[in-house]
Amino acid sequence: MKLKLLLGSAAIAIALASSVFAAGKVGIAMPTQSSSRWISDGNSMVEQFEAAGYSTILQYAEDDIPNQLAQIENMITNGVNALVIAAIDGTTLSNALENAHHAGIQVIAYDRLIRDSKYVDYYATFNNFKVGVQQATSLVSGLQQQFGDSPYNVEVFGGSPDDNNAYFFYSGAMSVLQPLIDNGTVKIVSGQTGMDTVGTLRWDGAVAQARMDNLLSAYYTDTKVHGILSPYDGLSIGILSSLKGVGYGSDDLQMPIVTGQDAEIRSIKSILANEQYSTVFKDTRELARVTVGMVNALLQGSKPEINDTETYDNGVKVVPSYLLEPVSLDISNWEEILIGSGYYTKDKLQ
Ligand code: BGC
Repeated sequence: MKLKLLLGSAAIAIALASSVFAAGKVGIAMPTQSSSRWISDGNSMVEQFEAAGYSTILQYAEDDIPNQLAQIENMITNGVNALVIAAIDGTTLSNALENAHHAGIQVIAYDRLIRDSKYVDYYATFNNFKVGVQQATSLVSGLQQQFGDSPYNVEVFGGSPDDNNAYFFYSGAMSVLQPLIDNGTVKIVSGQTGMDTVGTLRWDGAVAQARMDNLLSAYYTDTKVHGILSPYDGLSIGILSSLKGVGYGSDDLQMPIVTGQDAEIRSIKSILANEQYSTVFKDTRELARVTVGMVNALLQGSKPEINDTETYDNGVKVVPSYLLEPVSLDISNWEEILIGSGYYTKDKLQ
């Protein structure tokens, strides 16, 4: 009994010590739980920060800008030492970041660049231009494989115009597609290109689905669409529903090649069902690791590891960044990469 009591009080003492002597408190502001990738990001960060001795506040804003702003302001009031933010709208956080700076808080832009503020200390992300290159490269090889000779009828979708990444994905993809449009291999039948025209506000799958419905009824009654450049799995699922709605994916009407991003469960299932063609895998565990390393270095007074000091100009400064490598993924390599690395277990995909 005595021993038990003794052990009990030792455990309490250790718990108290670890909260008193925690390496610091980190506020993690994520955009939405409607997409599984951000849930993985949040979970990986909490796990890794806590393993490194930090306490965490993790919040999701369900794609509501004022909600995210309020969450960040609360974290500042709560006395966090660092903020890790995946912004919903990368241009609306300037005042909050100024407050954070005056409170001595380090700010990391997580995956999405925060624009128009000098108080963004570091940026952890993937090579976003390369994501677009991989999407378009996979689209083109799918078109060749499935439809043989060109020309190919293609439509392009962009991400959310308030997300800096969307422009990188789009320009990476167009660096591959534009020469093929110019030489007639690829035909954008609707003629719709440019982020102003093809962007999808808040990355909303329903918006993409509605646009695909409109494209199909306006431009594809006498001809077939062969490929869709989609920058994100959530959009791809909406686009595929629209295509299936008018009979694509049956014996006499082949499913077009549809790309994606994030290796979300629904999309991996769709790839296994021969609907979505490909996605781009970005290992959120790695992004969390880089971010925890950055925060740790900053709070210990040393310099975070970076590998890019040129690409990400946020309108006020070039934000020092660490870029991870994205991986193009389709039916040929999904298992080795996703199951092999333990990112998913097979039962998740049943
Ligand atoms: C991320 C993508 C994601 C998209 C929609 C982008 O900022 O980089 O991985 O697909 O947001 O959530």
